[in-house]
Amino acid sequence: MTDLKSLTPEELSAFCRGLGEPAFRGKQIFQWLSRGITDPDGMTNLSKGLRDKLRANCLITCPRIERKQVSALDGTIKYLWRLGDGNCVETVLMRYQHGNTVCISSQVGCRMGCAFCASTIGGKVRDLTASEMLDQVLFTQLDAGVPVSNIVLMGIGEPLDNFDTVLRFLTLVNHPDGMDIGMRHISLSTCGLVDKIDKLAGYRLQLTLSVSLHAPDNETRDRIMPVNRAYPVEELIEACRRYFDITGRRISYEYAMIDGVNDSDRQADLLAQRLKRAPGHVNLIPLNDVRESPLRPSRRTAEFQRRLQAHGVNVTVRRRLGGDIDASCGQLRRKRLEETAAEKERVKVHADIRDH
Ligand code: SAH
Repeated sequence: MTDLKSLTPEELSAFCRGLGEPAFRGKQIFQWLSRGITDPDGMTNLSKGLRDKLRANCLITCPRIERKQVSALDGTIKYLWRLGDGNCVETVLMRYQHGNTVCISSQVGCRMGCAFCASTIGGKVRDLTASEMLDQVLFTQLDAGVPVSNIVLMGIGEPLDNFDTVLRFLTLVNHPDGMDIGMRHISLSTCGLVDKIDKLAGYRLQLTLSVSLHAPDNETRDRIMPVNRAYPVEELIEACRRYFDITGRRISYEYAMIDGVNDSDRQADLLAQRLKRAPGHVNLIPLNDVRESPLRPSRRTAEFQRRLQAHGVNVTVRRRLGGDIDASCGQLRRKRLEETAAEKERVKVHADIRDH
């Protein structure tokens, strides 16, 4: 089965020719898919014959809403989608003044092992397909009934660990015949895979690269982000520098404030010093409590921010959205997995009782 929604219009044209159909059908199909049509019979400008061939040869992905939570505080909506194979991933819709933003997942689980992150508990299950990433934008927009203008790749998974597929997703979502979301309205967040940052720079995309730095010193970063053992801070900062030189785009650095771990004056000073090599903007993130982790939110965010500002660093504190709906990375999927495990356990206990 061909996964239709993962194909570009050009690839769809080639696919149609392969079915003995004219090439212009490719663009028509792409346009229907971009509107959320999931049944070939809804593609009313196609011939009956082609619609039948599509049904026989193709898969059109369509995630189901497993759970939906709407924040009473700020209207943030969190979706837990059930994918074709039963796996679940999360998407968050946030309402900002500059437009509606969706935060999408790139993998089922994650293998990066960051100590503060719920997505990585249980490791990576699999990469998402380009269609599954596109569906998160498409069906969030359709379900919520609002236009989406911005995308951040900051959900479950490490986007640069699913590099080629993420690039394909970007091509699809940016395409003028499709959702047509501009690269400047897209942010991609990475934990710091240096080789992939260099590879991405080569494409010279106008998207915003966010780097999850979280500590300026190797001792701390090694402890909370295992990826640092492969790519230490100095190397990461140099990669950011090269990225900036090649693309002309400033880096956005993410820094989750963790009590007693990365919030000292010494670390603020070192961070400011590091960023002289690779200019960018620092986003201080209040740590979201993850039940499984002993790390707690810092109480020094304002001081840390002031200290960075005194060094001339451009720094903001991220506003918390959806605080009442487990809106941070991977939390909803964890909850669902735990409930499923608890449910299995209950069924097992019942069976044990019955058998005795
Ligand atoms: N793997 C990518 C993108 C997903 S995470 C990355 O590491 O950048 C998106 C952001 O949320 C990252 O900056 C991540 O470090 C941060 N994050 C994860 N868990 C968090 C938590 N409990 N509190 C605050 N930020 C968290």
